[in-house]
Order: sequence, then structure tokens, then C-alpha cells
Amino acid sequence: MIYRKEKSNISLREINKKNILKIVMEMEPISRIDISRRLKISRPTTSAYIGELIKDGLIEEIGKGDSTPSGGKKAVLLQFNSRAGYILGVMIGVKTIRIALTDLGSNIIEIIKIPTEEWLGRDEVIDKLVKNLKKIIRKSKISKEEIIGIGIGASGLVDSKKGLVIFSPNLDGWNNIKLKEIVEEKIGLPTFIENECRVQAIAEKKYGLAKDIKNFVCVETGTGIGTGVFIDNKLVSGDKGMAGEVGHIITNLAGNRVCHCGNIGCLETLCSTSSLLEDIVNDIKKRGKSSKYSESGLKLEDLSSLYDQGDEIVTRNVEKNAEYLGIGISNTIKMFNPELIIIHGEIIKFGEKYLKKVKESVSKNTFPKVKDNYNIQFSKLGENVGLIGATSIVFDNIFDLDSSNIAGQYIIKKRIN
Ligand SMILES: [Zn+2]
Repeated sequence: MIYRKEKSNISLREINKKNILKIVMEMEPISRIDISRRLKISRPTTSAYIGELIKDGLIEEIGKGDSTPSGGKKAVLLQFNSRAGYILGVMIGVKTIRIALTDLGSNIIEIIKIPTEEWLGRDEVIDKLVKNLKKIIRKSKISKEEIIGIGIGASGLVDSKKGLVIFSPNLDGWNNIKLKEIVEEKIGLPTFIENECRVQAIAEKKYGLAKDIKNFVCVETGTGIGTGVFIDNKLVSGDKGMAGEVGHIITNLAGNRVCHCGNIGCLETLCSTSSLLEDIVNDIKKRGKSSKYSESGLKLEDLSSLYDQGDEIVTRNVEKNAEYLGIGISNTIKMFNPELIIIHGEIIKFGEKYLKKVKESVSKNTFPKVKDNYNIQFSKLGENVGLIGATSIVFDNIFDLDSSNIAGQYIIKKRIN
């Protein structure tokens, strides 16, 4: 097996190797001299550790940089070798399960998308997930020994420490599922699970808009609404992984739609994409059937073009949705005072015109002192943002590069052969 985390007393040598790897990943391409200066360790010692990391396959030389201003020798540059191992990432959504095989840098090599079909029941859905994990390994022709682990982003309340899906409001029967244990047993690889919105926030922190932002919130709007929150560079999970359930904040007590969580008036009954579709269908029914709408089949993509064209029914409902989402976001602003709010999910299809309406609502519902101290943007990481985050949790757990717990777990490289 390669790159497994093991319990042991960490040595100074291991700390230095982890720090070198971290610097190379953050600042690549970088020379040995630069690393030695930054870490304040001698050049020969730095070179020796780098030699070990090159032998481990984690760092590679990529040719020479510019010569020094005084005409000195050109330094050999180093970069992280993301193909030193592989990761499986999974996103269990209400409609779709996505499975990807990526390298250590979360670059997707193979991807499978299958319908969740949650009505089959949770055991069937988990069986399907396991079968497809095996399928993607076979298809990729990459040896299982080269895969360091599986990261899963799941919809609903997730206790990542226990590897438990506690409750998923939009997946029937998903209560207290030991998903980590089940997948580890069936596939035989270390498995880590996290809430789907939190893995998106992890992806934004590592590769997206929040790379240099300490305090930010990701809001996912699809079938449900959820958030992933970073405060002072740390992911907020709460005591049992239940923090950030903004979709279930009671927003309208006079509401008449019962939420999947059992309450009335939850934010997601007012502005999820499924409630938006339902509202539009109801409005059309009230007005009598129109061929324009029946032709469109009322898919979200079609609605976004009707919104662009200024269709009256669609515009009214989409803008009401934007107003409620703005209220939800203004509540998160008041709670967490984030510098940046990143919107994810199907709702992005409605484009900048929709975003402008959300911003107007946030501004209207946020008090003056807070106004203008935040930035709201659509995610730029695309539809696989969750998979990027899910694979990141595996890398971060196994390599543990940010750990200051020197007496705790750390990474030892082990390679067969
Ligand atoms: Zn609810």
C-alpha cells in the first residue's frame, strides 16, 4: 500500500518533510534554495529530505528556472507529482450519484454519473454505489493499491468523525447509516464522509474563489438548501455535524408546505429548485395550460431561457425565489459575518440577472453597518465541485499537512516493491 496514515511518534524529519511537501504544493514550481530559505533549514538537509520525497514519488523535478540576477547558476525547479496516487470521490445527491477517480490533486480521470433513484430504498442505493465504485476502479485500470482512499459527500446531517449519515431529509430512510464502515468493508479502502455542502466549501477553499479567504459561506441551492461555513480558515461542523442547516431555518410560519424535515415554513420550502418548479406549475394551472410551457417540459434549463426572455410567470416566481434566497443569505451574514458568500447548485443556471435580484434582497434585509462588507458570487468550479471537495478530504486526512499535533498521527510513505 502507498501513503497510509499510521500512528507513531512523529520525528522532526517527518515534520520537515510534511512542511516541504506543503510548500511545494502551494508555491510550485519552486527551487531547493527557496524551500530551504522559507523553512529556515540548511540546504544540505533540505536537499536530503527532497531526495526522499522524490524517491517517494511525491515531488518531481521539472527543469530549470531563470538564472539569478548576478548571473548565477539556474536552479532546478520542483513540483508536486499529483499522479503519485489516486483517490475516489463520491457525491450522493438527491437526484444523481457522481463517482470520480482523481489523482492526488483532485484532477478527474474517470467519472460515472448514475441516477440516485432513492425510491429503491437506501440498501439498494448503497449497493448501487458499491457496484459503481468497483466498476470505476476496473474501468480506470489503476491498481486498487494505488488508491489512497474514498471521500464521500452526502446530502443531509453527517457526523464525519463517526462516519455516519445521521439523517437525510431528502433521501427516504437514510437514518443513522454507518456509511464509512459499510464502504470500507465492501471496497477495502479508507473512507471519509462529509456533508455535501461542506465538501463544496472545502473545494472552494483549496481550489476556488475562497483560496485566500478566511471567513466564507457556500450556499447550495438545488432540491434542498444547505451551507458549508469556514470561520478563521476552519470548517464549521458543530457538535455532531449539524451546523449550517440554513435550509431548515423557519422563514415563514404562515407557509403551507411541509418540509421533508417535518417542519412548516423552512427556507427550502420557499426557494429550493423543486419548490420553484412546483410554484410555476401551480401558477400555470391557475392560468390555464399554455403550449409554450408544455413544450418546455418544465425543466430547470428551459425555465432559465424563459427567464432570460422575460416570461411573466417564470420571472415572477424566479424573482420571488431570489428574494427568499437573499433572506436566507442575509441570515447567514448576520450569523457568521463572512467576507464572501459563494452560491452553488442548479440555481446558477438563472445567471447574473438572478444573482442581481439575490443581492438586492440581501441588501434590503441586512442592516446598514454590515452592508457592502460582503461579496456574493456564483461558484466557478463547475458541476463537479463536490467531487473535487470529496477527494480533497481524503488527501487532507491521509497526508495531514496542516496538523500541528506532532504527537498524533502522521503520514509515512510506504510503497510496495
Ligand atoms: Zn425543513
